[in-house]
Amino acid sequence: MTTLQQITSCMDAYDPDALAVDQARAVVRAFLTPVATSERVAVRSALGRVLGEDIVSTLDVPAHDNSAMDGYALLHADLAPQGETVLRLAGSAYAGRQFEGKLGKGECVRIMTGAVMPEGTDTVVIQELVQAAGDSVCIPAGQKRGQNRRLAGEDLAVGKPVLRTGSAVGPAQLGLLASLGLAEVAVRRRLRVAFFSTGDELCSVGTQLAPGEVYDSNRYTLYGMLSRLGCDIIDMGVVRDDPASLEHALRTAAADADAVITSGGVSVGEADFIRELLARLGEVVFWKIAMKPGRPMAFGKIEHAGNAAHFFGLPGNPVAVMVTFYQFVREALLALSGRSGDCTLPLLQVPCTAAIRKNPGRTEFQRGTLARDAQGLWSVSPTGAQGSGVLRSMSEANCFIVIEHARGPVKPGEAVQVQLFDGLI
Ligand code: AMP
Ligand code: MG
Repeated sequence: MTTLQQITSCMDAYDPDALAVDQARAVVRAFLTPVATSERVAVRSALGRVLGEDIVSTLDVPAHDNSAMDGYALLHADLAPQGETVLRLAGSAYAGRQFEGKLGKGECVRIMTGAVMPEGTDTVVIQELVQAAGDSVCIPAGQKRGQNRRLAGEDLAVGKPVLRTGSAVGPAQLGLLASLGLAEVAVRRRLRVAFFSTGDELCSVGTQLAPGEVYDSNRYTLYGMLSRLGCDIIDMGVVRDDPASLEHALRTAAADADAVITSGGVSVGEADFIRELLARLGEVVFWKIAMKPGRPMAFGKIEHAGNAAHFFGLPGNPVAVMVTFYQFVREALLALSGRSGDCTLPLLQVPCTAAIRKNPGRTEFQRGTLARDAQGLWSVSPTGAQGSGVLRSMSEANCFIVIEHARGPVKPGEAVQVQLFDGLI
């Protein structure tokens, strides 16, 4: 097993106290051990899960050549090289009810979308172009051989790979599986994620706030973000800032989960006893990441009762929790769930309507609203106050404005990168 120490010692300029966002991502990625166990579920229950087997087609879909349009099926060679051709109507073909007869020379068949191409035809002429009177059908010039015909196997062909292990199963994949007639499919087991909030000042919802207390909101954002990712979640409540309670909570979580997420308690003032505690439970590094918000974060692996769990110690500030979750944890949990390929969020470029103050040397994740102007062009505006405790900035925003590490201030009208919240499943 690779240790964090081994991973970080191979990195150029690794400094836990000034770690670039991309370096932190690279360390996390290199340290993950995905779950490998699969279970078989009914196709519908596979929605949102990770495929646990390669799917190879056992069928041609469609099974037969068929018509892509409503019109007339004919043999292209029957058409006159120039000018129109009059053909005799020999019958009809509907989806699910094919033309049974045998087509003679100079004959055509009325055909509907999805109907099997009658034997002896290779081309469909759409009905709008044709003049039909009784059983006489006049086809204009200019038809291309094979037009409006869907070929057998053009969607899925026998023996060809359809979906790979590690693919996310969404609506399109469910439909593909169904089009192969599959009733069940293997998916990776769900990731078990335990989480709790730390802090003596935290008060649970539904109780009265004492002076100096705040309601514990992080457990609710985490609950929402983890539920959207399709994890099995273990909500362990609020844990007080005392070594015995924290140790008990961390051991319980490590024994039971694939990943453990905490919020609070990793900032400089608080880190010391947590640091010592985590060092006893496994290997955890404490980072100051060159980012805003979300600077302090702990990452590693903790073990108890023969089980090891990946550990993410997120900052306490409510916006920092969401930013570090989306920038590090989301991708990590997807990889741990067995997802293959690149799961990073796409970055899109749009003009920014306002100036943004920014110093080079850290990546900033401002909250923004992407909207269309009167001309129909998209641009982004920062949502007012950007403090890491202002959770309203996340609720009012629909995207992150990501201002790169090396970049300085942004002038109004300059292009910036955004990451949309929509689609963060
Ligand atoms: P900490 O990282 O523990 O020093 O917390 C930083 C700030 O975040 C403090 O102002 C905390 O009160 C606040 N905070 C920590 N945990 C939570 C939580 N679960 N819900 C809301 N605010 C929190
Ligand atoms: Mg705290």
